[in-house]
Amino acid sequence: MAKFNIFVENRLCKGCSLCVSVCPKNVLELDPLTDKCIPVRQDDCIGCKMCENMCPDFAIAVEPEGKDSPYNGIRLKSEQED
Ligand code: SF4
Ligand code: SF4
Repeated sequence: MAKFNIFVENRLCKGCSLCVSVCPKNVLELDPLTDKCIPVRQDDCIGCKMCENMCPDFAIAVEPEGKDSPYNGIRLKSEQED
């Protein structure tokens, strides 16, 4: 079965937990320390991307194993010089 990597961009995640509630495989939880989403059962992920599509802040992305994080190298608007 295909494997997937789950990338959470902590700078964008506001801990709303929508992704946690929508995941059909209970892959995600909120970290009680940071209040950010974390993949706790990544091996159970079926790659449905419901979490990614549901996140209002574009803070989570699911990619097939071997693909890079789409967040690599991005700078948020707040971090950019004008
Ligand atoms: S839906 Fe997005 S912002 Fe909300 S907890 Fe999940 S990753 Fe974070
Ligand atoms: S892609 Fe689907 S199964 Fe995987 S973490 Fe997101 S909602 Fe859960």
